[in-house]
Amino acid sequence: MALPGHRRTSSHKRRRASHFALTKINASTCPKCGESVLSHQACQNCGTYNGRAVLSTDKKTERLLKKSQAKKTVAEPAEKEPAPKQKFSRKTSKA
Ligand SMILES: [Zn+2]
Repeated sequence: MALPGHRRTSSHKRRRASHFALTKINASTCPKCGESVLSHQACQNCGTYNGRAVLSTDKKTERLLKKSQAKKTVAEPAEKEPAPKQKFSRKTSKA
């Protein structure tokens, strides 16, 4: 059974953890709708980038998205049932 070769001291642990800090996200506000937007990315609310409409936020696309999501939700339960059986068979074969 594998064991650690040497004890990790508290200072060693803290020095390693000095790089664990998360970086702050620089979000700006959309000039059109005022929603918070990530830099160099189109606004998810109104679909504009640099004062230009990039993403289509029409009703047609919304309907298509809803339809595709509905299909996925209907199809998922049938797919979920056989999946655990495969996982179990793999685990039993390994052990
Ligand atoms: Zn916007």
